[in-house]
Amino acid sequence: MRRHRNVKIVATLGPASSSKKMIRALFDAGADVFRLNMSHGSHDDHRARHATIREIEAETGRPIAILADLQGPKLRVGPFTAGAHDMEEGDSFRFDLDDAPGDSRRVQLPHPEIFAALEKGSELLVNDGKIRLTVRDCGPDFAECTVTVGGTISDRKGVNVPDVVLPLAALSDKDRADLEFACELGVDWLALSFVQRAEDVEEAKRLAQGRAAVLSKIEKPSAVRAFDEILRASDGIMVARGDLGVELPVHSVPPIQKRLVRLCRAAAKPVIVATQMLESMIESPMPTRAEVSDVANAIYEGADAVMLSAESAAGQYPIEAVTTMDNVARSVEADPNYRAIIEAARAAKLHSIADAIVTAAREIAETTDIAAICAFSQSGTTVSLVARERPRVPILAMSPVDTVLRRMCLTWGTHCVKTPRLSRFKEAVVNATRAARDFGFADETRQVVVMAGVPFNVPGTTNILRIAPCDERLIYATDPE
Ligand code: ATP
Ligand code: MG
Ligand code: MG
Repeated sequence: MRRHRNVKIVATLGPASSSKKMIRALFDAGADVFRLNMSHGSHDDHRARHATIREIEAETGRPIAILADLQGPKLRVGPFTAGAHDMEEGDSFRFDLDDAPGDSRRVQLPHPEIFAALEKGSELLVNDGKIRLTVRDCGPDFAECTVTVGGTISDRKGVNVPDVVLPLAALSDKDRADLEFACELGVDWLALSFVQRAEDVEEAKRLAQGRAAVLSKIEKPSAVRAFDEILRASDGIMVARGDLGVELPVHSVPPIQKRLVRLCRAAAKPVIVATQMLESMIESPMPTRAEVSDVANAIYEGADAVMLSAESAAGQYPIEAVTTMDNVARSVEADPNYRAIIEAARAAKLHSIADAIVTAAREIAETTDIAAICAFSQSGTTVSLVARERPRVPILAMSPVDTVLRRMCLTWGTHCVKTPRLSRFKEAVVNATRAARDFGFADETRQVVVMAGVPFNVPGTTNILRIAPCDERLIYATDPE
């Protein structure tokens, strides 16, 4: 099984996508990474989904990345008796500290600090800004509001108060418990919500102790300002446009997205563009033209991955949503103009032997008839450098380490393949060419580039590049060692 595209697809799992049949169907339709959102559902729910994904991984023989998204200091309402409530413009609605389930008049907002900070006239935004309310009256434990833009509010929807500055700790007690749970479960990536400074990321990394890679969600103006340091501290980035578009003017998001994607690529770290990509597909089997353009744009910009949130977690058409992303990706990547754009955005060379070899590999692949670049990697670093080049040919990311293979599933252009522990370069060549043939990247008439570091099992030593024939007899004939 191989994908016929470079950009990766992240699909959030939720009530609409918990059965094994559905998760398998999402994988078959093109999902490369599954997101477990710790803001919703119980640990048992997430444990079950995690186990299902690993079963599918074993059945298909393909590594799959699992990303656990930590809630962070996000304000959320409590549950509703009916699960949801439709609000209309002009309605009165009350937020309070009472943990009784919500109804048509009120719901819990379990954050005393927000009531302390609210004033008459403050604006509350619900569900990534879709619903708006203005505070008419408030006290230490309530806010009486008038709906100015209606919509459906439902269990645990997020609330933003853009004009009020709240003192926010990066990781709540719940986040610490969820982080430990997710690491023990064996997720590959952790996403940190509402990161504000590099120290927030460093703290999460200390807690994760290398058990999972750490990705920062950029959704606060302060994170945009401190982006360079945050990027340096993180293993990856998510442009979390839902909250970003509420915390900042919505029209400032596209230039920020473009800039962040470019900086991540230059730093050889994966970047996900997320939120409302195919939002109308929650209820419709067809996306809007604007949504298709949005997904296409993120791909033209060179993002590593595009993401589905409620579309796959709670929507009516999860499979169609993944299929749409897959179709958009293939269409964009087949456009000759896409190559031109991607190549024009290539970052300057880095000063390392590994980068020199990677650049050479890409140039060889571009000037000769090479079927794939096969990169052996102990830590994933070399593969990230290859992806940074955005080569025209597929990248076979080869590693004996499962966690590394799974993490690399998020990286642009990679097809991840498990290898045995190797001791000689010749074995690497045999393994790489076999994988290229087995997965349909090359037949026996073709050649591939093989890159590795010798001695093996020492990270960061990429020092060999070989052009290898895919015909195994020729490998032995030309290289008896
Ligand atoms: P975030 O800010 O982390 O994106 P969110 O509330 O927007 O939080 P998403 O995962 O982006 O969550 O969107 C999925 C939507 O699907 C949620 O808002 C929620 O209404 C619904 N949902 C219900 N249960 C789940 C679940 N277990 N996982 C994810 N989403 C769920
Ligand atoms: Mg968010
Ligand atoms: Mg969201």
